[in-house]
Amino acid sequence: MEKRRTVPVKLDVDSDDAALLENTIDEFLWAADYVTRHAFEGEYVTTSKTTLHDDTYGDVRDKTALHSNHVQAARNKAAEACKSVVEKWKQGKRASMPNFTSPHLVYDHRTATFHDDYVSLATVDGRIEADYVLPDEKRDTPHAEYFFSDEYETTGAELHYSNGNWMLHIHCKTDVESNTSEQATENRTVLGVDLGVNNLAIASTGTFWTGDEFDHWRREYEKRRGDFQECGTRWAHENIQAVGRKEEGRFKITLHRISNELVAEARENECSVIAFEDLTDIRERTGASWGHKWAFNRLYEYVEYKTAEYGIDVEQVDPENTSRRCSHCGFTHPDNRDGEAFECLKCGYENHADYNAAKNIGLRYLRRNQTGSGGGAPVGVRLNSGTLNANGGFESPADDESARAGVHAESPRL
Ligand SMILES: [Zn+2]
Repeated sequence: MEKRRTVPVKLDVDSDDAALLENTIDEFLWAADYVTRHAFEGEYVTTSKTTLHDDTYGDVRDKTALHSNHVQAARNKAAEACKSVVEKWKQGKRASMPNFTSPHLVYDHRTATFHDDYVSLATVDGRIEADYVLPDEKRDTPHAEYFFSDEYETTGAELHYSNGNWMLHIHCKTDVESNTSEQATENRTVLGVDLGVNNLAIASTGTFWTGDEFDHWRREYEKRRGDFQECGTRWAHENIQAVGRKEEGRFKITLHRISNELVAEARENECSVIAFEDLTDIRERTGASWGHKWAFNRLYEYVEYKTAEYGIDVEQVDPENTSRRCSHCGFTHPDNRDGEAFECLKCGYENHADYNAAKNIGLRYLRRNQTGSGGGAPVGVRLNSGTLNANGGFESPADDESARAGVHAESPRL
């Protein structure tokens, strides 16, 4: 199995070099947009990298001073973005032609050379060199663990410019011996996770993370943003952005903590899969704010990133009716749910509505993956004590753990 890590490294870039990098980024984004526009020109959207290469490579080389590998990287970016638009259309969702605005640039081994103290980067006018700005402590940093480790190989990087900082996100990988396949057959269970406004996340084990802290910050932020917005000046605009950055940093710390705890929850319960609902239309479904949507996406990304080394898969499942369906008997009705309370009109099963939804998300993953041989696929949804199988049957654990504090327990009828 391959273990992949991305290590963010700040770069010390002088102003001349910064100007060169900015020009290179501009041309890179222009190239990605150019290829995208071309992909959208015909009757069908072109998503084949080969076709897009044949159609646009010469033009982009003529019109930019980009290194050939930057041209290819821009084309890949465009092809992937077009592909995901087509994917959404297939699912009946709306999506428009992508355009590239966030300042970034993709590097590989032909366009970047990673030295011990500095990196050499190709630009539209030769190469520049930039020193790494590393943390003072030399051990226990991601830099020491991955980037400077002999066990890891550097595969490439993405350069980002934001808030006046040049950051290089360096991709590293190593091969690890896999013992996860054994574990996976022994403990093939899935952790279902429901995301929401009152509880930011709730797991099928019953553990939940409230949205209080997040709500507090979001309200503060929106209040301050509102104050600035009334001014309507450029100064106000810049202040909104400054407030945004500060709040974003705080949100991210909270979301990192929650994601760590979610991953720990999956590991403690020996789950091989964490299932979330599909996040695409979560605002329309749950009435969540833009801030919540942002938080859900970050949380999902963090969990996905942190589980990779444990061989735990992170998946999204179709969210339809997960909040209206009874996780006990399968009866689906909008009146089963009343705010935070779930009570099945058919079998009388009662529990917290978000907890019921988390179980349904886990079950949906199971059912989706049980058509077929089932070899290696999870066989149960992990609850706070015991496991729920795809038919809704409940299996008690051999040793009867009592429900832990801070969790929603199964109701006695099970
Ligand atoms: Zn029921």
